[in-house]
Amino acid sequence: MLYIYLIIIFIFGLLIGSFLNVVIFRLETEEKIVNDRSRCPNCKHILSWKDLFPVLSYVFLKGKCRYCQKKISIQYPLVELMTASFFVLIFSYFFSVTEKYFVANIIFYFFVISVFIVISVYDLRHYIIPDKVIYTAIIITALFNFIFFNSIFFNHLFSAIVAFGFFLTIIILTKGQGMGGGDAKLGFLMGLILGWPLVFLAIFFASVSGSIVGMALIIGKKKKIKSMIPFGPFLIFGTVLSIFYGEEIVRWYFDLFL
Ligand SMILES: [Zn+2]
Repeated sequence: MLYIYLIIIFIFGLLIGSFLNVVIFRLETEEKIVNDRSRCPNCKHILSWKDLFPVLSYVFLKGKCRYCQKKISIQYPLVELMTASFFVLIFSYFFSVTEKYFVANIIFYFFVISVFIVISVYDLRHYIIPDKVIYTAIIITALFNFIFFNSIFFNHLFSAIVAFGFFLTIIILTKGQGMGGGDAKLGFLMGLILGWPLVFLAIFFASVSGSIVGMALIIGKKKKIKSMIPFGPFLIFGTVLSIFYGEEIVRWYFDLFL
């Protein structure tokens, strides 16, 4: 029976992923999210329903526009598949934990992962974290904590302020090289989502993974030391890891050393 749920959640994730692609595209072109119909970004031809199936349309069209043959970015099917996979992961995680308010938790983390995917793609492509997205996420997360988990509300708010202050200090000390204001706002959001001590763990994972990838890119001569690597996707990687495995890691660490 669970398999049927998982398949439904996966398809739902593909559809949301398809919507996230629209969100990313409209953020780039500053169009309203709910505007007219989807068009090919190259030839502006209105897309038919046959072109709008997540992943499948991309495969059948061999990654090219039906009308002008221009290559479609691999970003589209990747975002759809990632969204669907994370939705399945979130659903099975909270379904098995069966915590209090697990439906609310599942819906909330669907929202969180959607925000994270939009921010990651946008940051990788444009080296900026869109304010609209991060402010919306902060407001919804604060409301979620307040309504469902008001006992942890102040812990998480405090963590958010500490994380924000921490990043702001780094930005001031390094005179804005490497990290930007968007990363500090993302730090605030991470604190709200994770609370203490998980936010610390997430920042630790982000720094380690960021350093490893940065070094690899420099050694592989794909980047120069001075050139930019967006930090947002690493912060998000650390946060996702902490959401799923954070408590286990913290417990394991204290068993080991205390
Ligand atoms: Zn086209």
